Amino acid sequence: MIQQRHQLWQRTLRSVAADFQALGDEQRSWIGEAVRRIGRGQQQLHALFLAADGPSLCSRCQGACCACGTHHFTLVNLLAWLAEGLSPPDPDFALTCPFLAADGCRLAVDKRPFNCVIFLCEQVWERLTPVQQQQARQLEDMLRRQYLAFSQRFAGASPHGLLIRAERLNGQGLLAAPGSQASASDCGA
Ligand code: SF4
Ligand code: SF4
Repeated sequence: MIQQRHQLWQRTLRSVAADFQALGDEQRSWIGEAVRRIGRGQQQLHALFLAADGPSLCSRCQGACCACGTHHFTLVNLLAWLAEGLSPPDPDFALTCPFLAADGCRLAVDKRPFNCVIFLCEQVWERLTPVQQQQARQLEDMLRRQYLAFSQRFAGASPHGLLIRAERLNGQGLLAAPGSQASASDCGA
């Protein structure tokens, strides 16, 4: 299972990187602006987490909420790396989250999965002032809309995770328009 996941990851990375290079200027520019907007929003949400002294709370509970992160990483997060001409760190699927390290998450905050960034557990939440809690709700709403905009534009963008979408699309383009993929009945199956 670990090896299969890693192979699927590598195939998906190669295929999305090639499709990204082949996109027209309008699509690439739309992606670039959208991932930068998401990155800024995620940094703002992370600033609230820092203001609540999140890192010291997390080190005490040893990153409990990273215990099931296998499918948090989505196409949007991958595009954030590709838009900067970079690749994400190599995942280790033997871990509870493939991007977890001894000192925390290996993904930069602006390219971290939506599920991870918006999660402010009770301990963290209670340390925020009412104004900060309101800011956190507004940022979460804004980020949800931004991620949703990707799902409306690209077949592979979904909250369900990059590898789950890649498996479902079974070799068809993750950057194709939603609904443009051939269905089983289209293939006469
Ligand atoms: S966010 Fe909360 S549950 Fe998650 S690691 Fe930090 S303190 Fe623990
Ligand atoms: S991507 Fe990072 S923050 Fe999210 S579950 Fe994995 S290690 Fe934790």
